[in-house]
Amino acid sequence: MTEAKQAPSDGAPQPKRGVLDIAPYVGGKSAIAGVAKPIKLSSNENALGAGEKAREAFAAAVSSIHLYPDGRADRLRAAVAEAHGLEPERLIFGNGSDEVFALLNQTYLEAGDNIVTSQYAFVAYQISARACQAEVRLAAEPDFRADVDAMLALVDERTKLVYLSNPANPTGSYATGEEIRRLHAGLPAHVILVVDEAYAEFVTEPDWESAFDLARTASNIVVTRTFSKLHGLGGLRVGFGYAPLAVEQAIDRIRLPFNVSVPGIEAAIAALGDEAHQKASRDLVAEWRPRLIQAVRGFGFEVLPASGNFILIRFPDAKRPASAAQDYLQSQGIIVRGVASYGLPDCLRVTVGTADQNRAVLDALSEFAAR
Ligand SMILES: *Cc1c(COP(=O)(O)O)cnc(C)c1O
Repeated sequence: MTEAKQAPSDGAPQPKRGVLDIAPYVGGKSAIAGVAKPIKLSSNENALGAGEKAREAFAAAVSSIHLYPDGRADRLRAAVAEAHGLEPERLIFGNGSDEVFALLNQTYLEAGDNIVTSQYAFVAYQISARACQAEVRLAAEPDFRADVDAMLALVDERTKLVYLSNPANPTGSYATGEEIRRLHAGLPAHVILVVDEAYAEFVTEPDWESAFDLARTASNIVVTRTFSKLHGLGGLRVGFGYAPLAVEQAIDRIRLPFNVSVPGIEAAIAALGDEAHQKASRDLVAEWRPRLIQAVRGFGFEVLPASGNFILIRFPDAKRPASAAQDYLQSQGIIVRGVASYGLPDCLRVTVGTADQNRAVLDALSEFAAR
């Protein structure tokens, strides 16, 4: 198959080996034909939108958009360092945390190297690793949770990066602080452990820990965070990694010079200072996540334990499959995320919405269950 795709039959330009084998990323749907304002719960966006302070900062930034951004994002760097108690020089900013993953892969992977992650891992890690002609190794996830021993068993001398999202998307599971320490302790020194904490702020379980503390003294841990979820700035594309200084300095050589925009920098700084909006966003999820789980289980569907701003519903009954549920929700103007591309064809991922949106989801699912 690869041969057929790549064979230069007519002298036309050929992408490098492996590129055409990568399945394009398909994001959550955002429209339903004929529905003016669908309820969009397919991309784990913040149901409250961006906060007032971030909106004002974004609007004010219009007077500066003819200027190139500060290439080091120094004011944002200082604000993030202050907010999380981190050394500013160890931060890597990206056009979303997606770009931080791509930069790590570009900096560390050669053809024939590999990354290790787990079965239902976020696909962004995998796409950019394949673009570097690296192999992607997926450790089985019994019970929809990353399995530290299974991941360690896949690591060899060609492994350069191990990716773990904590909490995980799309399963919603999390690894405990103890599991992260065990994973790190089991890795050879040449392997970078990347802990993707995109949903960190929504976790309420006491045995979850941020890997920031572990990363502080390690020479091979990168922790990533994003402004796309809690802060509601997905459209502006701002994320960062906290890395060993040597990793930051290597990446800084190949990163595009102005990879975070002027409005992105300004809105992100303002968002960090908007504790009221952060609290409202966390409170909404803390209130509705358990209510949604309990109600959906009451309709007879399975719901996995959830630690992010979304839930994963399983439809094990072939007479009421996930695809039919997705169609029914769509007929009610509600867009959720099918996750067949993650190997979870019997599941749907649903972002926690506003109270009204959540009630609409529950009404629709109870109708679907009764059909
Ligand atoms: C949404 C998400 C991110 C954030 O991506 P950005 O590029 O920062 O918007 C990272 N990791 C996971 C697992 C996510 O679901």
